[in-house]
Amino acid sequence: MNKINNQHNRKNDEYANIGAKREVVIARRSPKDVVKICPICFSPVRYIGNVFEFILTYECTNPDCGWKGNIVVEISKEDYEEMKEKQKKKSKEQKNG
Ligand SMILES: [Zn+2]
Repeated sequence: MNKINNQHNRKNDEYANIGAKREVVIARRSPKDVVKICPICFSPVRYIGNVFEFILTYECTNPDCGWKGNIVVEISKEDYEEMKEKQKKKSKEQKNG
């Protein structure tokens, strides 16, 4: 009787482990609230896929910049909003000065 109980418990433990692992994988694969931005001008980038060359995966949405590449800066949405506010203040200061 004891033997059977032990086996049963072990199986439950294994399932629990699998469930925990799956949760970790999902958390890593879907980073929430992450914004991909251009490393040159810090504007949001747009995913263009492997249309031209495999190294050109993202395109800057800022027409003045025109950056294309695959190395983008990933920051949290909170940081991005903060940065935009700072940029607004900066451009205002420049206009005033
Ligand atoms: Zn740019």
